[in-house]
Amino acid sequence: MSRYNEQKCRMCRREGVKLFLKGERCHSDKCPIVRKKLIKSKNLKLSNYGRQLREKQKMKRYYGLKEAQFRNYFYKAFKMKGITGNNLLKLLEMRFDNIIYRLRLAKSRAQARQFINHGMFKLNGDVIDIPSYIVKPNTIIELSDKGIKNELLKMIIEENENSTPEVEWLSFDYKNKKGQVLREPTREDVTMSFNEQLVVEFYSK
Ligand code: SF4
Repeated sequence: MSRYNEQKCRMCRREGVKLFLKGERCHSDKCPIVRKKLIKSKNLKLSNYGRQLREKQKMKRYYGLKEAQFRNYFYKAFKMKGITGNNLLKLLEMRFDNIIYRLRLAKSRAQARQFINHGMFKLNGDVIDIPSYIVKPNTIIELSDKGIKNELLKMIIEENENSTPEVEWLSFDYKNKKGQVLREPTREDVTMSFNEQLVVEFYSK
């Protein structure tokens, strides 16, 4: 296993949960969290600050962001109408890389970022190569000419021919290679167990 991959698994071990950072391996018995039955026990005795910090790290790592990027999302969410924690999750979910991952067009968010950087997808007819792009409801998602020719992407799509996107707020027709953002995600659409209030408290000091 490469050092980079070990680092990814170390992040999961540190947070005591599966953060799904490595694609297929995360869903197999090879995942160290499954193999060693690692649990979250070491986080039980943390101080309030420690719990806030760990929750922030967990969310930041799950979405594969750097500290400055993640903090900027928090401030953006804070300025939006509504509940800051919900706004934060909504923004993170509507990132282009997350959407490609949720549509099962990439095995991990890291791979989704790579595909997007290489200009493999079109949004409403235009090639967009910015993984952090916030995709709005009703946007049509298609493969670009480059995406259609990419063998790896072709293989991923063929594997998913009979499946549906991971979430209900997105649709994708794997045969015609075309999908849509049906609506904004709600808090209930985020199935990963986050206590976003702790993240809000972390940045509100
Ligand atoms: Fe590694 Fe498992 Fe985390 Fe995937 S979910 S990155 S395999 S520890």
